[in-house]
Amino acid sequence: MAGEQPFVEHARDGDVHVLRIANAPVNTLRTEVRAGLLDGIKAAAREGARAIVLIGSGRNFSAGAEMTEFGKPRKPPSLPEVFDAIEQSKIPVVAAIHGNALGGGLELALACHARVAAPGAQVGLPEVKRGFVPGAGGTQRLPRLIGMEALRLIVSGDPVPSEEAAKLGFVDAVVQGDLEHAAIAWARQHAGDKFVLAKHRTDRIAGYDAAKFDEAAKKLTARSRGQDSPKGCVESVRAAFTQSFEDGLNVEREQFTRLVQGEQSQALRHIFFGEREAVRIPDLPADAKSATVNKLVVIGGGTMGGGIAMSAANNGLPVTIVETSEEALQKGLARCEANWQRSVGSGRLTQAEYEKRRALLTGTTDFDKAVGEADLVIEAVYENMAVKKEIFARLDKAARPGVVLASNTSTLSIDEIASATQRPELVVGMHFFSPANVMRLLENVKGSKSNPTAIATATEVGKRIGKLPVLVGNCDGFVGNRMTGKRGPQIEKLLLEGCLPQDIDRVMEAYGMAMGPLATGDLAGLDIGAAVRKARGTVAPVADAVVAAGRLGQKTSKGYYDYDENRKRMPSKEVEAIILDLAEKMQVRRRKIDDQEILERVLLPMVNEGARILEEGIAYRAVDIDVIFANGFGWPAFRGGPMFFADRLGLKAVRDKLAHYAEATGDRNLQPAALIETLAKEGGSFAAMKGPGKV
Ligand code: NAD
Repeated sequence: MAGEQPFVEHARDGDVHVLRIANAPVNTLRTEVRAGLLDGIKAAAREGARAIVLIGSGRNFSAGAEMTEFGKPRKPPSLPEVFDAIEQSKIPVVAAIHGNALGGGLELALACHARVAAPGAQVGLPEVKRGFVPGAGGTQRLPRLIGMEALRLIVSGDPVPSEEAAKLGFVDAVVQGDLEHAAIAWARQHAGDKFVLAKHRTDRIAGYDAAKFDEAAKKLTARSRGQDSPKGCVESVRAAFTQSFEDGLNVEREQFTRLVQGEQSQALRHIFFGEREAVRIPDLPADAKSATVNKLVVIGGGTMGGGIAMSAANNGLPVTIVETSEEALQKGLARCEANWQRSVGSGRLTQAEYEKRRALLTGTTDFDKAVGEADLVIEAVYENMAVKKEIFARLDKAARPGVVLASNTSTLSIDEIASATQRPELVVGMHFFSPANVMRLLENVKGSKSNPTAIATATEVGKRIGKLPVLVGNCDGFVGNRMTGKRGPQIEKLLLEGCLPQDIDRVMEAYGMAMGPLATGDLAGLDIGAAVRKARGTVAPVADAVVAAGRLGQKTSKGYYDYDENRKRMPSKEVEAIILDLAEKMQVRRRKIDDQEILERVLLPMVNEGARILEEGIAYRAVDIDVIFANGFGWPAFRGGPMFFADRLGLKAVRDKLAHYAEATGDRNLQPAALIETLAKEGGSFAAMKGPGKV
């Protein structure tokens, strides 16, 4: 159409034609691109081209299929149709890869007769992470090129750099300099090679060993818990080894169709898109600017401070830890070093990279001097309001005007902490999760006075040090801890009414949680919860009795479970006796509780609290809550998070079940939140709520 930019540009360099995908930034293979490629191949044939180079515009080759087209009626031509045309082309087609060639993008490249790539380009098939399998021949073509290594790449979904791809054998050359020129030269030089028909289509894979394959598959899927897509990948790749190309494609297509429509894939895509959404702050003024941060200061080099400092150094940001004594400082720095050394030992970190990171980390006991040089301060000292206020008053005096002061508190009010300073507008929460050098989640907490600079700085620095910052409001426990805290009363009741710790953890782990709630309590230390209950004047009969028996969790080798010297957990007879004894004393009749009831009574209190969080403006959107759980609370992304769980159940059912459990267990906290009542009445869902709300 006149005036419209084509989605595939067709250029000619003598007898080598160049088809350039022009759907930047990531060149997804939307309908117009597919059609453009097909037309381009045909046109090049008509014009008698010697070779065709296929390249992406902007910074990427292609990030693959257009996921927003999934689930909608598919418009022709399909990807397989386009790929067939490329593969059957009598003129060799050479993919020229830079940036990313992922998913359908790599499948496109695999359908070409050869692949050249820029140094450092990322190639991979991440479909498994979205809950499905590569659906356009990737599981059939890649094994035909590189054999068993394909299984690892496809089941893990992790991309590899072009250099590794070249070693593995699915990139023919890594070329230096201008990619397009190099690719044209390469294509011209190799145009006479025997590409036609592509080798990977016709060749049978030699030497398939079923036992070896099964063993590799078992290893690769061992950690996928209840997730279906890794198994789908295994079956598709197996077909590449055992069946003809056409039959293998059919197996792949069946797996793809089944998985892509399934709930797990919808959940994974919900989280995938949610993560992009959740870092956007809807009401941040367009001109809000982050402070320039070239020097981070972390107050406190304990568990959290050390992890935060490591995250900064890992991402190239110079950081200084401030401690109260030389001894505490050396201990903190040594812990960071030991952590890094472990990664060096296991080969995940090179010695050179370690030294680079270590050089970015310094420590001092000179509070005023360090804070005076800071562009941003993150406080991570003991969780005590008086201590925090004293430190913030000192920070306010020592820091340059305009410097943002953040607290890593997990329970205390940011407003009260801010009130100790003359700059409450520059005080925010930056709530990291343990281990802070590993966990991606960062709950940034907006105080009632936090200004756009403070928020933009917490967001930008959070991203820069490798975190996923989600802005939330100021309240007790913020989002994640506030919601998980609400499980406690129902877990107590479940234990009294008929469960043992291992029953509850088994159900939650079968659901996909990294660790059940009781084992998690043991890991964190049961004294922490006990201290919180004491401060708040609340009781939890079972937990209190377990703590009173000196069972504080893993650190005392016994908590809800017994632990052996390898920290392997085992059901505890003593805990069972404590529970049975309490039930008898409290006259609770024990009964067999089925798995579904356990699941609902653990998850629904969280859902209810999530709804209150939305009502109160503590989170902008329901998906922010799900993203928080998927990134900081071991919630399996393939289950989509607590609000996704509720939407799947249907809010009318959620309302009815909450009301039922509130009545049956006498837990007032389970009275359905007003938002759930409203959405249930309107036939609405969390996902479809008009929004985003306010924080
Ligand atoms: P920690 O006890 O391991 O470390 C606290 C450190 O602060 C100690 O090394 C101490 O010497 C130092 N410190 C105390 N007063 C200081 C001062 N005036 N100046 C400099 N350093 C000082 O505690 P932690 O687990 O790292 O917790 C720190 C903060 O992070 C708390 O607010 C906590 O609620 C929060 N938090 C903890 C976790 C967790 O899982 N541990 C998770 C999220 C948030």
